[in-house]
Amino acid sequence: MRHRCEGEFTRGLYASRYPENRKHMNFADLGLSPELLKAVEAAGYSEPTPIQAQAIPAVLMMRDMIGIAQTGTGKTASFVLPMIDILANGRRRALMPRSLILEPTRELAAQVAENFEKYGKNHDLRMALLIGGVQMGDQVKALNEGVDVLIATPGRLMDLFERGKILLNGCELLVIDEADRMLDMGFIPDIEFICSKLPETRQTMLFSATMPPPIEKLAKTFLSNPKRIEVNRAASANENITAFKINVKSRAKRETLRWLLQHDHVETAIIFANRKTTVRELNKSLQSHGFASGEIHGDMDQTSRIRELERFKAGEINILVASDVAARGLDVKGVSHVFNFDTPWHPDDYVHRVGRTGRAGAKGRAFTFVAEEDGEAIANVEKLTKTKIPVFGKGDVRVELVEKPAGSAPEEKPAGRSRSRDERDEETPREDRPARKPRREKEPREERKPARSARQDEQDDPVPAGEWNGPRPGFLDVGLG
Ligand code: ADP
Ligand code: MG
Repeated sequence: MRHRCEGEFTRGLYASRYPENRKHMNFADLGLSPELLKAVEAAGYSEPTPIQAQAIPAVLMMRDMIGIAQTGTGKTASFVLPMIDILANGRRRALMPRSLILEPTRELAAQVAENFEKYGKNHDLRMALLIGGVQMGDQVKALNEGVDVLIATPGRLMDLFERGKILLNGCELLVIDEADRMLDMGFIPDIEFICSKLPETRQTMLFSATMPPPIEKLAKTFLSNPKRIEVNRAASANENITAFKINVKSRAKRETLRWLLQHDHVETAIIFANRKTTVRELNKSLQSHGFASGEIHGDMDQTSRIRELERFKAGEINILVASDVAARGLDVKGVSHVFNFDTPWHPDDYVHRVGRTGRAGAKGRAFTFVAEEDGEAIANVEKLTKTKIPVFGKGDVRVELVEKPAGSAPEEKPAGRSRSRDERDEETPREDRPARKPRREKEPREERKPARSARQDEQDDPVPAGEWNGPRPGFLDVGLG
């Protein structure tokens, strides 16, 4: 048997996942402690991503930093890992957290807390999660007992600070994640206030996939002599995401969406809309068409927000209709598609929305609907990303199309798929399945689906004929001219 030369396999994997990074690196080369390397190994990571390879040594050297890297490329671990080693020395004191991580949404704060638990499992570090919409009792108790890391949304942090439940003058390490969002109009007064309470000699780190120049200029006022790490040009699209735009009339958006949900091999999708009312109405409409969908937006109470996200993560629903509250940072495994039901008004949001797919080396597809009123917004997106998003055309369709008889509408069929269906299909006899499940007779290939990861690899393969015998959908004729 021929032996591979040392590192060949991992290097190959690395190059294909992160082709921009030519040099081969190990986590062990980055200066992390053995306990931490064990936790990294347990997480299943074989090699650092480019942002991790560049940021971790600098964080360990206590540098201030601006870290810019594409969505889904592991920015969280690039600050959480070195922080754990830095905090391993030193002791906690009541009311005085030793470090602070700021996040724009509660869900994202909770997700970073999960990361801390995962990577810090071999360390004796205490953490408190300070987010709004939930009771303060446990948060106050944790603060009283002393914490090494505070992970917070600004509102709740300010609230507890003003009540005297927390002192920030012992906090020598600050991370502002999604920094451009945190330093925009809405959040900036809070951030300025919080920073004014932190010690002046501290280490400050900012991370994001987007960084508009005026915001970066402002950001520098919070930093001293920062190292700037930019893995890819800010706001550049992740190369694992195949993006399309679809020119469509406003009133045809829903029908177009349903067609794509049924015929583009959607496993799990997040659908973004610009308005909360659209989110609510679209979710209702999808449910009435038999889709397993849920919703998340800022007008919901926190318990419902968490519940819907959990249902989505667990695969009870495979479609999440969302406002931009879910656009930043959320890391849900296996999101195969992102749909922009409306083109986002702020072009940076486009990068973050589509970045909910194509994470950690997986592939994803992103569709942006462009009606007349979205015209200016899409132009801004293309200007920011410096790419012309291709129009979805016949060649991109994943099912066989037949010529459309004049005036016919796309055929409808129920398709409330949930992510866990493969498992359930093994246990549930066919006749016992809920009526809402998609009819499988037409989809023999789907029954024999290989394991998820293998399937993702072949995502771009054309679909053999026979899966779609309906008329050609009208939207394909729009803008193909
Ligand atoms: P970002 O903040 O850059 O959008 P995240 O930190 O949320 O990305 O990480 C995205 C996903 O990549 C997570 O599921 C995480 O577990 C995974 N990940 C992080 N680092 C690595 C690595 N070195 N190798 C493989 N997967 C990784
Ligand atoms: Mg992130």
